[in-house]
Amino acid sequence: MKISRLFVISGPSGAGKGTLVSLLRAKRPDLALSISATTRHPRSGEIDGKDYYFLTDDEFDDLIAQHGFVEWAHVHAHRYGTLQREVKRHLEGGHSLILEIDPQGAFQVKENVKDAVLIFITPPSPQILEERLRKRGTESERDIQIRLANMPGELEASKNYNVIIENDDLEKATQALLDAIASFEEKSE
Ligand code: 5GP
Repeated sequence: MKISRLFVISGPSGAGKGTLVSLLRAKRPDLALSISATTRHPRSGEIDGKDYYFLTDDEFDDLIAQHGFVEWAHVHAHRYGTLQREVKRHLEGGHSLILEIDPQGAFQVKENVKDAVLIFITPPSPQILEERLRKRGTESERDIQIRLANMPGELEASKNYNVIIENDDLEKATQALLDAIASFEEKSE
């Protein structure tokens, strides 16, 4: 029997998490994706309620006070959090759910949901990661520097993940992600 599970996907900026998750969901449309809240400003093309719920600092503070987050963390000089209402809505629907969040958030989730599966997406090398981040052109130089400085800590955290997938070839990495998710959906532990 297939079991609905919580999958947490993390990886440094530029590792290709976003692209991989889109490709994964194209093949597994039944997998739900939780939309996080953040205090960072939208990038060009990002839509409130689709990419993130973009909140002011005060709105974020209010949600913390109301216990509205499953987890939240300071990431790259902004705050990001998984909303209780998102997780509840999707899990009640009986589908496996994906959280695309950083390692601090991942470990908070694991504390509360013991059978959550932590999947880490790693780039082939730090140099490639920097190249991808610059090519993407969505961050200022200051933001790129912050993200690069945070990379070693994130890579270190990957040691405590259930699955590590190297993203040097999108097709192979997507297949590895599909296989990992399917295999955990078959297990009860
Ligand atoms: P970005 O600004 O590039 O969209 O995301 C920056 C980082 O924040 C990524 O590592 C992403 O996984 C993480 N992130 C996104 N949403 C959440 C969340 O709800 N909680 C936590 N802890 N991290 C998040």
